[in-house]
Amino acid sequence: MRVNVDPDRCCSSGQCVAAVPEVFDQSEDDGVVLLIQPQPPAELQAAVRTAASICPARAISVQEP
Ligand code: SF4
Repeated sequence: MRVNVDPDRCCSSGQCVAAVPEVFDQSEDDGVVLLIQPQPPAELQAAVRTAASICPARAISVQEP
């Protein structure tokens, strides 16, 4: 799995960080998403898919496999 984020779309809602703090963080300056792990391990991948699906800005995309 490879994760991509689009900071230009992010509205800083923080849901991705709440869902998978091992993969997503937020900038302390403006709250925009920061990607910590572009290639998350298998045990986090289901949570990453959930985070992508609940992102209100559709700022998270996931490439499989
Ligand atoms: S859930 Fe989406 S809009 Fe909210 S902080 Fe994460 S990437 Fe940004």
